[in-house]
Order: sequence, then C-alpha cells, then structure tokens
Amino acid sequence: MRLLQSPCNYLIFLLILQDMEQDSQLLSKNKNLLPRPPIVVILGHVDHGKTTLLDYIRKTNLAAKEAGEITQSIGAYEVVHHNKKITFIDTPGHEAFNKMRERGANVADVAVLVVAADESIKPQTKESIEILNKTKTPFIVAINKIDKPTANINKVINDLMDFNVLLEKYGGNIPWQAISAKTGDGVSELLDLIILMGEMENLTYDPKAAASGVIIESKLDSKRGITVSAILKNGILKNGDLIATDSASGKIKTLENFLGQRVESLSPSAPALILGFETMPEVGEEFFAGEIDLVEIQPVKIFERKVEQTENFVSPEDSRNYLNLILKADTSGSLEALKNVLSSLPLKDKKVKFLEEAVGDINDSDVKLAQATGAIIIGFKTKIQKTAQELAKIHSIKIINSEIIYEIGKILEESLAEEKSQKTIAELEVLAVFNQKTKKQIIGGKVTTGVFKNRSRIKIMRNSEEIGWGKVINLQSQKQDVEEVRSGNECGLLIESDTKISIGDHLIQEL
Ligand code: GDP
Repeated sequence: MRLLQSPCNYLIFLLILQDMEQDSQLLSKNKNLLPRPPIVVILGHVDHGKTTLLDYIRKTNLAAKEAGEITQSIGAYEVVHHNKKITFIDTPGHEAFNKMRERGANVADVAVLVVAADESIKPQTKESIEILNKTKTPFIVAINKIDKPTANINKVINDLMDFNVLLEKYGGNIPWQAISAKTGDGVSELLDLIILMGEMENLTYDPKAAASGVIIESKLDSKRGITVSAILKNGILKNGDLIATDSASGKIKTLENFLGQRVESLSPSAPALILGFETMPEVGEEFFAGEIDLVEIQPVKIFERKVEQTENFVSPEDSRNYLNLILKADTSGSLEALKNVLSSLPLKDKKVKFLEEAVGDINDSDVKLAQATGAIIIGFKTKIQKTAQELAKIHSIKIINSEIIYEIGKILEESLAEEKSQKTIAELEVLAVFNQKTKKQIIGGKVTTGVFKNRSRIKIMRNSEEIGWGKVINLQSQKQDVEEVRSGNECGLLIESDTKISIGDHLIQEL
C-alpha cells in the first residue's frame, strides 16, 4: 500500500484502513478466525466492592512470575485462570466516571454487575443495569460481601427481579455467583462463569485484518509524552504501525503490554500501552492501525479543542450570568469526569461555561486566560506550575486544585456562596405590586437581609435567576419617606426599571 505525501494522507489512511476492515469483515465469514479472550468490565454502586474484586483477581490470578510486576496502571490487565486468559478493564468505580463506564461496557464483551449483599440495589446499580440493557452487554451478577453478618443474598435476588434481572434458578437465565472480594470466596467460580460466557459469545478475531480497538486512557506524561492505553479487539497491533482515531493520529514508537514490557506485537484482547500519538486521542474512541510501505504519514490535527476557545469568550455582561471555568486534569478520562461533576452542580443563578478543557499542569497561559475572562481555574489530579501560582497570586486569580473530585464541587460552591454574601448588602422580597403602567413601578416588600437604601441600584432576581436591573427612586416606611429600611421591616418603593417586577421577586443591593 502506498500513499502520496499530502495533508490529506491522514484521511486517506483512515479510509484505507476502514476499507481493509470492511474487506476483512467480508472475507472473515469463511476464513481463519481465531478465538480471543473475553474483555470484562465491572460495574455497580460505589463501595459495593468493585476495586476490591479487581485487586483480588489481579493479585491472585496473574501468572506467578508476573505477579507484582505491574509498575503502573494502564487501565486494564490480563489474568490467566485455568490456562485461559481474561482481560479486565480497570475503570474507576466512581459515580463521576459514568460516561467512561458506559463506554467501558461498550468495549467489554462481558460485564460483572457487583451488588453488595448487605445493601442490595442502590442508584448506581440501577444505572448500571440501564447501561447494560442499552449496550446489550451480556452480564453476570456477583453478589458480594457475603462474609458480612448482615449479608442477605435472597433480598438481592428478589430486589433484582424488580428491575427485570432474573437470575438462573430464580426464573431467569442470568448467571450469578455469591462472592466475597475480601476473602476470595466464590471468586474462582466467578472467573469460571466469565470464561464460559466468553466461550458462549464465540469471541474471535481476524489476524489479517487491520488492527482495531478502543482507547481507554490518554495521558500526558512529563517524561514519556503522550501515553495511550488501548484494548485491541481485532487484527495484530505492531510496533511501527501507523495509528489513528477520529481525533488523533501518529506512528507507534513504543508498544508495551500491560506489565510495562516492550513488545513487538500484541493480539486481541490484550491491553496495550502506545507511545507515538502526535495529539491526544479521546477516551472511548475507536482506533485503527496498520503498516504503510515507504511512506511516512504526516498526521494532521483535525481536532483541536482550543480553536473553539475564542468563540467561548464572554463579555463582562455575560459574566453576570455565567460562571467561567478553565479545567485542567491529568488524563482525558479525569477531564471528562470533572466536566460531568461541574456541569451537574446546582449553581442557582449562574450557568457553567468551560472556556478551556485540557490535560496537563496549570500553567501561565491558563492564568492569563482566567485574568482576561474572570474565570476560575479548576485542577483535578494535576499540578500548578510555580510561575503560574505566582502569577495567580499577583492577579488574585482563584485556583481550585484537588485530587478528590467531589471536594472540587464543594469548594467551588462554598467560594461562590461566600462571594455572593460578600457582595449582597441588602435583599428585599416583593410582597405586592401596585402600578406598573410605566417604567416607574410601585411595589411593596419586606427587607430580608441587611439595610435597604433609597436611591440605590438593585438587581431583580426571579427563582434565583437574575432577570434585570433597576433603581430605587423613593422609599417609604409607615407612609413616611425614609433613607433606609432595616431587615425584618416592610416598606413601599418606587422603582425605575425596564423589567416588570412580580410578587415573589427578590431585589438585591450589591456593593
Ligand atoms: P468500589 O467503590 O465498588 O470500588 O468499592 P471498594 O472495593 O472500594 O470497597 C468498598 C469497601 O467495602 C472497602 O472498605 C472494602 O474493603 C469493602 N469490601 C469490598 N468487598 C468486600 C467484601 O467482600 N467483604 C467485606 N466485608 N468488605 C468488602
């Protein structure tokens, strides 16, 4: 296969690989397909024992000479059980990683739904069942923590029925196993079930097809550059292959197995660590790889998030309604999780706007962007460069940096509340509206916070959202003109505003 050297090479490369993929699919019907091990994902509610189970399996089932050799987590590992291989995807078992988990279930051939026998079904158990149904992933239920005195296996079996998860011997055909991830009880039987389910799924690969699989981690390592973890699903992945996803491309310079050992090739369903991507691919993307004779491809950056940045800039007017954030994290998976958490924060009067989302340390240009836009910088599992820290101090830029995702949400909410309380000096609730024929509106209200002043500017809030601005022209208390009214007292006001004020609105005077 030869290609001309042009900026379109990357796309041509993808098209050729996809053609190869289709050709191989056509041919594969009647030719040498080889069996491949099952790729397994573990789902379930937080604290139900997913990590403990993954750790137990890793410790007890790696081939003896390999045990303890793993120096870094690449998001997946292989075990051998009764001479058969299984690949486990080591997805973070946190609520924030829903999206990744959903993708995990897509990557996976088989899922294990972990339900703690002392707690039974919880919100994330339900979510996991929905994901499994949506992705049509075959699964096994592992009823965990059976060593606990409060364990109630029958309750779990019954509760699962409410979600149409009918277990074997209980009116359905979903395999299940009672286990203790702590003592290891039942784990070997669970692995037997996984192998059996993999065999029933008839999992195969075509050694002649273009290598393809799924990206599961994408990191910027200070020493090694862009390191990408992937799971191979078809073909043979070789060192030196050109590799591409929808958003990134490159040439494999180093290929490692999950133990961090350099290898020349890998076959499905192996986890792979790939060095050589020119830009960071996204977690959950599919990759294709192959050899191309003589021609060095020029990878083009067809997807550059920062390009969109300029469109995202906001005017000072907008900044009253938007909370501008700059996000930095250690991996694209973390970034996605952080974005999910921040997007769902109950910030009453502001909408969240992400001006930048990137992998890497918090640096000077992040601080400069924050300075220009009034944004807050959020770091998740990342570092703040020294100069950036100093710059932030000088310009009073807020940086929230933490290893714990929910702590970030909490700190952000607290600091916004604090900012609000510092700004608000008085607040009045509108109890009556008398005349609104012109811009001048007569209303009645009660001061709920601080001292409400005459001839002051007010912000009009409805259901915690800012709907307009106005000015107090006259203030009366007990039919007398007054200069101020204190908290707890009622008053009449003449307000000038383009916004029609309604009963229940809140008028806020800020510093
Ligand atoms: P995850 O959030 O689902 O990954 O849950 P973890 O694996 O972190 O487990 C949460 C807690 O339950 C930890 O304190 C574990 O030690 C404990 N745990 C997990 N599996 C078992 C088990 O089988 N028996 C008992 N007694 N405790 C368990």
